[in-house]
Amino acid sequence: MAKPKVAFYWCASCGGCEESVVDLAEGVLKVVEAVDIVFWPVALDFKRSDVEAMPDGSIDVAFINGAIRLSEQEAMAKLLRQKSKLVIAYGACAYGGGIPGLSNLTDKEATLNFVYHESPSTTDGAARRPQTHIQVPEGELELPEFYETVKTLDQVIDVDYYLPGCPPTPKITLAAIEAILSGKLPEKGAVLAGDRALCYECDLNSTKPEKLLVTDLKRPHQVLIDREKCLLAQGILCLGPVTRGGCEALCVKGGMPCTGCFGPLERVRDYGGKALSAIASIVDITDEKVLAKVLQAVPDPAGTFYRYSVPASLLTKKRKAA
Ligand code: SF4
Ligand code: SF4
Repeated sequence: MAKPKVAFYWCASCGGCEESVVDLAEGVLKVVEAVDIVFWPVALDFKRSDVEAMPDGSIDVAFINGAIRLSEQEAMAKLLRQKSKLVIAYGACAYGGGIPGLSNLTDKEATLNFVYHESPSTTDGAARRPQTHIQVPEGELELPEFYETVKTLDQVIDVDYYLPGCPPTPKITLAAIEAILSGKLPEKGAVLAGDRALCYECDLNSTKPEKLLVTDLKRPHQVLIDREKCLLAQGILCLGPVTRGGCEALCVKGGMPCTGCFGPLERVRDYGGKALSAIASIVDITDEKVLAKVLQAVPDPAGTFYRYSVPASLLTKKRKAA
């Protein structure tokens, strides 16, 4: 029997999601044995023309990571959609816009201005910017267009399933591949992880008080963390109560709070809004001094609560630079 044909592709991504496939360790051998990888430009020498030459629907599943920032990424996502039976949005950037999506809090002009004119490492006095078309002696070169905003994968193509995480853990990646190989997939549109908050699978959950009241918030570098006690109960902003579980609380095990990369639970429309209201509900707001101190401890609320989901959120997609 022919092996299922699988494609991997990255869009606006840090490379961590690609790395996570390699992190399957001996699991990757099982995957390579069970499937036929027909496109994986980060690891194997495939070209876009190879995909264009494939019949429509001939790839069984395409795992696409990264958000959509450039016209080339949108074109590749559309091409892979056309050639694939299933498309999986792999990782927080493809799912909710992720870290690249934070740039939607400013605009394209301000982003390009900083990168090509103002950043401390910019030394080119002419401060050139990338052009979509440029004439060279050999002919005309074309570069992808830099879009006004960052989009999630499902804002440009139809997505069948989502694998959350920054990056997805080897365990949920293998479970998803096994579900695909066995044909035991849930309803289209599902997030391939559990639907319980992270706290339920955290080893420190038993130390989290039933009624939690925070009077002080601290950042991890400001305190000596007690590794035996719930981080939120220690006043460290941990987003475990509002974040989908499935990662087995790896960050908490490593002494760091959950920052929400697995995204919202099923019924939540806007992760950042939910996270903000959950944290606000445990802060002692009866005392103004306490409130001011707590607010001071969150110097970047958008980056804290919407770290992985600005493009997918209900927030305005961009704002003019101040
Ligand atoms: S989800 Fe995380 S690991 Fe994956 S590309 Fe985005 S930033 Fe990198
Ligand atoms: S708040 Fe954080 S540390 Fe506390 S139980 Fe939940 S995930 Fe664990």
